[in-house]
Amino acid sequence: MINTKEIFEKQGIRSTTCRIDLVNYFTKNKFAISFPQLEKALKKHDRTSVYRNLIFFEEQGVVHKLYDADGILKYALCKDNCAEHLHHDNHMHLTCNKCKHTYCLNEKHTPKIKSPKKVVIESVAITARGLCENCKN
Ligand SMILES: [Zn+2]
Ligand SMILES: [Zn+2]
Ligand SMILES: [Zn+2]
Repeated sequence: MINTKEIFEKQGIRSTTCRIDLVNYFTKNKFAISFPQLEKALKKHDRTSVYRNLIFFEEQGVVHKLYDADGILKYALCKDNCAEHLHHDNHMHLTCNKCKHTYCLNEKHTPKIKSPKKVVIESVAITARGLCENCKN
């Protein structure tokens, strides 16, 4: 499991308390987080800096965007060794029917989809509904 310090070192990111708190919140929670949730959790920081740093981390390949099964925009830590402006998070996500959290599924079993003739498909996002590891037992 990657820790906050490693993320900063690996990407050569200057650390500020806001950035550290932000990444800590992501490493601590195993599920994807929406901006309102993040804002609430990091109340001691200015809303704008939390948002700016979130966008910064997205650009740096530290967190990726996803939509949960209800279409809510969330962010989760990248797991596929993403680099600056080069995300390759082609994993599926699962929204749990019981705890309502959305998780990244590490296994790369997103089905290959052939582009219909008239368009080019560049990425496919799949969010499943079901039960997470904790809730299935
Ligand atoms: Zn990524
Ligand atoms: Zn669950
Ligand atoms: Zn993910």
